[in-house]
Amino acid sequence: MQQTQTHYRSCPFCEATCGLEVETRADAIVSVRGDKRDPFSRGFICPKAYGLKELYHDEDRLRRPMRRTASGWQEVAWDDAYDEIADRLLAIRERHGNDAIGMYTGNPVVHDLGALLYRPVFQRALDSRSLFNSSAIDTLPKIVQTGLMFGRPFPTAVPVPDIDRTDYLLIIGANPVVSHGSLMTMPDAPGRLKGVRQRGGKLVVIDPRRSETAALADEHHFIRPGTDALLLLAMVHTLFDEARIDLGAARDRVAGLDQVREVAARFTPEDVAERCGIAPADIRRLARELASARSAACYGRLGTCVQEFGTLATWGCDLVNILTGNLDRPGGVMFATPAVPVDAALPPGKGIEIGRWRSRVGNQPEVGGLIPSSTMAEEILTEGDGQVRAMVLLMTNPLRSAANSAQLEQAFRKLELLVAVDFYLNETTRHADFILPTPSAAEHEHYDVGLYCLAVRNVAKWSEAVRPAPDGSPHTWEVLANLGARLMGLRDVPVADVDALVLQQYAAAAVERNQRWQDLTADEIVAKLEGGIGPERVVEMLLRVGPYGDGFGRNPDGLTLERLKAQPHGIDLGPLEPRLDQVLNTESGKIELAPQLMLDDVERLASRARAGGNGLLLIGRRDLRSTNSFTHNLPALVKGPDRCTLHIHPSDADRLRIEPGSRARVSSRVGTVEAPVEITTDLMPGVVSLPHGWGHDADGTRLRTASEHAGVNTNLLTDDQLYDTASGTAVLFGTPVEIEPAESKGAEA
Ligand code: SF4
Repeated sequence: MQQTQTHYRSCPFCEATCGLEVETRADAIVSVRGDKRDPFSRGFICPKAYGLKELYHDEDRLRRPMRRTASGWQEVAWDDAYDEIADRLLAIRERHGNDAIGMYTGNPVVHDLGALLYRPVFQRALDSRSLFNSSAIDTLPKIVQTGLMFGRPFPTAVPVPDIDRTDYLLIIGANPVVSHGSLMTMPDAPGRLKGVRQRGGKLVVIDPRRSETAALADEHHFIRPGTDALLLLAMVHTLFDEARIDLGAARDRVAGLDQVREVAARFTPEDVAERCGIAPADIRRLARELASARSAACYGRLGTCVQEFGTLATWGCDLVNILTGNLDRPGGVMFATPAVPVDAALPPGKGIEIGRWRSRVGNQPEVGGLIPSSTMAEEILTEGDGQVRAMVLLMTNPLRSAANSAQLEQAFRKLELLVAVDFYLNETTRHADFILPTPSAAEHEHYDVGLYCLAVRNVAKWSEAVRPAPDGSPHTWEVLANLGARLMGLRDVPVADVDALVLQQYAAAAVERNQRWQDLTADEIVAKLEGGIGPERVVEMLLRVGPYGDGFGRNPDGLTLERLKAQPHGIDLGPLEPRLDQVLNTESGKIELAPQLMLDDVERLASRARAGGNGLLLIGRRDLRSTNSFTHNLPALVKGPDRCTLHIHPSDADRLRIEPGSRARVSSRVGTVEAPVEITTDLMPGVVSLPHGWGHDADGTRLRTASEHAGVNTNLLTDDQLYDTASGTAVLFGTPVEIEPAESKGAEA
């Protein structure tokens, strides 16, 4: 009889980092449960956690590298794949320059420590300006806003609601009951949200949909998509108008207050009410409640980012927090103090850089080295110097996640070389020349370097690999190091030597940022970590120089990786603490309340109110059992009724003669899909909703479960040319569409 072993790790399927207790027997995962002794999640999990087992066992998951040949896919040895890919990339670089090779990174990277820490290494080897990632689909406004206001690179200066202590929580364009929080790492979102009310606080939700979070709230208001910035600036207007400004901890640390006052003067509640769909009296009352609550937090997420005024909306959220004295105080919005400070690993410098160069075709500014992902197709399709001719994909399926998928698919078909680091043959990787599958989450160790920067409580946890990677299968960091070394002409250098260089670079950056131990040197760090390898060693280094670390012996009771591993359920490092002084890194040394980029975009906000052909706007919808498109290939996460349905309000359905249970044809400027209809009063009239990540009916994939639950791809409708001007983020929520009954019109276009 084989022995059962128990392992502890954090869940890799969303940002909440729930603790898992995973039992294995021989080479099988036999159970996945919530870890009751995890101090952060206390046993909470959602149905997606079970996906760890299904993903590990999924027979569709690739385990050997694949090369496209004239007769189909063929397995290839890892070294041969590295060599051939590098040769072809170098030849393209030689002929067309560095920017001809693009890279696109998906959000699963945040759950793969090796990918997270070694992607920068590979990108340095690539030395290309054609860098795109999933943050440039849904997070750029937040990156721009926090970078300009607080002066640090994402995610080191994103204030998160101190949800366990707040007395008033205003949620705009987010559905944490289902998403479990985004840019707000918090296990047990439903319990924590209920907790606000149970201790006498108030929860208010603003959303075009009466979402699962709205169902828990004291109050919900529908809002017209794309008008959050109007609402928030009208709330700011009220704060000034009624002399309710109280900067609290930000007193004497803000610049631009008068400019904000001038901007807000233009947006009275009465002026914006009709466009937002919220009564002036309610707008004023919400502002008063935020200002008068003992503590309060305004939290906006996807809905405030992926819209036409995403940067202004995210700006408005933090303006409201700062002007009501709720920044950096318990119960307000606060900055986490991560045990592994990721900014220690970033090049030192003030704030983020924006607009050092512009995209070749669309003239979009880079943001911290990223080009808006909506420009990817035009950069590939438009001929000329700098045209992207090869792409490297890291854990992503952009043909289902990026705007205007049909155009992007056309672009990907034109590439001279497409390389995908991915374990599925999906709708995007089916176009690849090489697929390099790295192990699933259960097969690698992990530390949530990025997500703990956004946690609502300071915690640290080392995640065990619950099963070893398949024989001979490299981890993601090794794949990136091998390819990067070849691009730098270090083909024959062993990966351990490449890794030593990587550690040296990380150590030098960490020492430069280190304020605590002036005598600590990179050479000492490297010497003391000799014998280790890979991302685990980098985490150990960052942990030991971090705020709770042992300083390589200088603080004997401090954290080391060994001590962290000795606590397999994780360590609670306490509630969030005020730390504005440590975070602020702007040139003025103050919070920049009125960055020029935002001021320049105000006129556009004042003048624009967008509507579709028959007045309908399409928004997305998050589902409890779905995160990335790959979760659709896991049986436990797709069973039950079809979830990829078009939601429409009864008044719109009546007007358009859409029958319950029928199919509707949805058309935008760029495409058309047909979807089954659900008529519901949970949606604002004039707004329709389709979830994203579906559309698994493409030929040439190996996603047997997903193809039985294909759904439709909502990004056939989203428009790459409709974007938030300030950040370049494509509008995914608020696409103008027309809807008509599908029956008599034939198949999907
Ligand atoms: S809430 Fe997120 S982290 Fe927690 S179990 Fe579900 S998917 Fe995993």
